Amino acid sequence: MHVLITGGAGFIGSHLAARHLANGDQVYVVDNLSTGSLANIKPFRGHPAFRFTEADILQWSEMDEAVAWADRIYHMAAVVGVKKVLEDPVAVMATNMTGTEKVLRAIHHGGWNPQVIIASTSEVYGFNSKSSFAETDDIVLPSAGRLRWTYAITKLADEFLAFSYARKYGLNIVVVRLFNTIGPNQVGHYGMVVPSFVKQAVSNDPLTIYGEGTQTRSFCDVRDTVVALDYLAGCPEAWGEVVNVGNDQEISICDLAKLIVQRTHSTSPLHFISYADAYGEEFEDVTHRRPELNKLRALTGFAPEWTLNDTLDNLIENERAKNLRVA
Ligand code: UDP
Repeated sequence: MHVLITGGAGFIGSHLAARHLANGDQVYVVDNLSTGSLANIKPFRGHPAFRFTEADILQWSEMDEAVAWADRIYHMAAVVGVKKVLEDPVAVMATNMTGTEKVLRAIHHGGWNPQVIIASTSEVYGFNSKSSFAETDDIVLPSAGRLRWTYAITKLADEFLAFSYARKYGLNIVVVRLFNTIGPNQVGHYGMVVPSFVKQAVSNDPLTIYGEGTQTRSFCDVRDTVVALDYLAGCPEAWGEVVNVGNDQEISICDLAKLIVQRTHSTSPLHFISYADAYGEEFEDVTHRRPELNKLRALTGFAPEWTLNDTLDNLIENERAKNLRVA
């Protein structure tokens, strides 16, 4: 199979590339290296079935050829991470919406109907106060233009773009709402909590908990996430659908911090920081975020294999090895 991954040097994209190369597929990655990195795809450089092009999705001159070549497309290219989104909302709007529309248009004009995954996010549920989210739940977003929600709005627009193309042109598209994903290659620079806490704990630095730490999240290992995406792309019943992807085991951020300290045998204290200090005044955090996974299970039979403890142990080990290499 020919697999095109936009944003394929990113955290999830690089794991998709690894999975498909291991399956014997041809993999073509395009990435502008804004949040992705060459380090993520270094293991595949030189692999005869792997090709990489550094290009921005908005200016990529070979998009039509690459899209026409692909049997499957994972459209992962996006500006992600809360900090990045607050820093540059204009770039977020352009990359996330115009980029997706360009990809969909190229697929339609390609005259070939590849399997397509469009990456959306659990952020689209907004501040719906439910304790877990099903695909049929309402989207609750503020009416005034608060920039913190820019990412969610762009991804919601992507969802509607995808459904419009799927309905009008019969394209085989699945929209996936990705919940918190963790694992190797994820970096904490853009605000992600697990890599930040692991780094802090391994260095015996204070773990920075934003707010009171009572907010909860459900973390899915990326090596499980890519299995779910692979199954969904190849599942005709999923085409034209939106599907939550994640793990439904929930933990508070405070308990997560304690767990990481415990598993690292670290002397790090817990340090509480106000949201205003962490992100600026306009930030509104989501108090609970847990996926309902009935639809994913019914469509694919998917069940995550990685437990949170196993993933954390693996990340702690990687962080220690990284520090040894630097020392
Ligand atoms: N968070 C934290 N300390 C950090 C980074 C994040 O306490 O150093 C909190 C953040 O406010 C949120 C949760 O951890 O409540 C998850 O943050 P992340 O950015 O990883 O994911 P998201 O907020 O998108 O679910």
